[in-house]
Amino acid sequence: MRTAQNRRFTLIKRPNGMIKRTDFDFSTVSVAEPGPGEVLLRILYLSLDPAMRGWMNESKSYMPPVGLGEVMRAIGLGQVVASNDPSLKLGDIATGLTGVQDYAAVPAKNLNKIDPNLAPLPRYLGVLGGTGLTAYFGLLDVGQPKPGETVVVSGAAGATGSVVGQIAKIHGCHAVGIAGGAAKCKYLTEELGFDAAIDYKSDDMRAALNRHCPNGVNVFFDNVGGEILDIVLAQLARKARVVLCGAISQYNSSTDVRGPKNYLSLLINSARMEGFIVFNYMQRYPEAIQALGAWLADGKIKAREDIVEGLENFPEAFLRLFRGENLGKLVIRVAEPNG
Ligand code: NAP
Repeated sequence: MRTAQNRRFTLIKRPNGMIKRTDFDFSTVSVAEPGPGEVLLRILYLSLDPAMRGWMNESKSYMPPVGLGEVMRAIGLGQVVASNDPSLKLGDIATGLTGVQDYAAVPAKNLNKIDPNLAPLPRYLGVLGGTGLTAYFGLLDVGQPKPGETVVVSGAAGATGSVVGQIAKIHGCHAVGIAGGAAKCKYLTEELGFDAAIDYKSDDMRAALNRHCPNGVNVFFDNVGGEILDIVLAQLARKARVVLCGAISQYNSSTDVRGPKNYLSLLINSARMEGFIVFNYMQRYPEAIQALGAWLADGKIKAREDIVEGLENFPEAFLRLFRGENLGKLVIRVAEPNG
């Protein structure tokens, strides 16, 4: 292993607004030796998550910021090429926080071993990984949808939103997605089985919500924040639940985050708005993975990954999330598995 080289992106500047390639240093160093209890992973796929933008900021969050000079934090899937822990052997495939690089030495206890025979590898970073788990716990635990209720989800054609709408359908709800562009809306209704889709870039959102949610919105699963949150808040049904999953429209703001203007709708509708972080549910991941895996196997959930080739393309690939250029779970393919 000592001859192998590790290409990596380190964060060298806190981005202002959208990230730039010059916020990172792309360098090549020797591959690290795994320490006691660690394994060395050769990274095959990297998950690109909007949350990574928040991790680049100095501000307080649910995780410490990525330090300047450190490898950019990311969730990855890799193959074990050296192991100092009996729980993972050479050739095993595992996911965890690996960083944006070719090789990562990671404590084995922080990794989840996966079975590569059950699903295509990138699916373990999507429906069978962080975004599937987020959709599952956010909708079912925080949103608590009941059969016959109307569930609206923003960012609906993305990794999390597309699973939210499909789980809502499985639970007998009326699922309405909000997404950017006619092609994404068509994908939601014609391929994923949403009852309706609203194109926030060209539809009159208020009129469309009135049309598709005549009894109001019982559950709003919000991935976007900003104006879309305000418009949906004005359409809540009595005792509605607003699930604050994310606010991607605000992540690159270089001024103040835009807060909801229509929050009094929570008061007059005896409704609640609640945020959550998927990591809070770690103890219950096996339950969710089992349910999501069964729905995939039964064809009740369709999964889609949007794969960009090459570690070297990380900054440009990451920006696709904020430009709405991804359809489904965005990942980078770094390398092919051996054996
Ligand atoms: P994603 O939905 O696959 O991709 C992001 C999508 O957001 C884009 O495709 C784009 O779709 C939409 N978007 C980007 N900028 C927008 C804007 N200004 N206004 C409206 N829509 C915009 O990403 P994801 O990984 O599934 O994440 C979705 C959300 O879930 C994010 O807010 C993320 O932070 C959050 N999340 C939260 C947790 C948690 O634990 N709470 C965990 C994972 C993810 P369009 O083409 O439709 O605009």
